[in-house]
Amino acid sequence: MPNSAPQTSEKSLSEHDLVAAVKEAQKQAYAPYSNFPVGAVIRTAGGQIYSGCNVENASYPEGTCAEAGAIANMVMHGGRDIAEIYVIGNGDGLVSPCGGCRQRIREFSNPNTTIHICGPEGVRKVITISELLPYSFGPEHLVPKQAG
Ligand SMILES: [Zn+2]
Repeated sequence: MPNSAPQTSEKSLSEHDLVAAVKEAQKQAYAPYSNFPVGAVIRTAGGQIYSGCNVENASYPEGTCAEAGAIANMVMHGGRDIAEIYVIGNGDGLVSPCGGCRQRIREFSNPNTTIHICGPEGVRKVITISELLPYSFGPEHLVPKQAG
């Protein structure tokens, strides 16, 4: 049962390993309506790995994105800090996170969190969350920092 539990101490995972992991996540996608399977893999600041895939249903808008699944998996296991996230889809274009997922990733990111946009051949582009979602709104806007 892949991707259901965090793997520990994965700081040493290479880009090659994470691309392999995101391809495995993509294989789990349930996308009978779009036929567009997507996978996502998060590596946390602590080195844990969490993955997710898109999950569609007959009421199309109710489907969920791979990034949302990976984030839910991370949060469920206590993770809160995304160091990097790999996202993979098929086709020639860049399968970058949708608008909603940009905000979802932003919630658990720092400005240097990287998004690795992948295709079947590997990583196509690496960008930071700050580039992907400039001038973003985040949790620090709601929670004032304590003085002193
Ligand atoms: Zn999305």
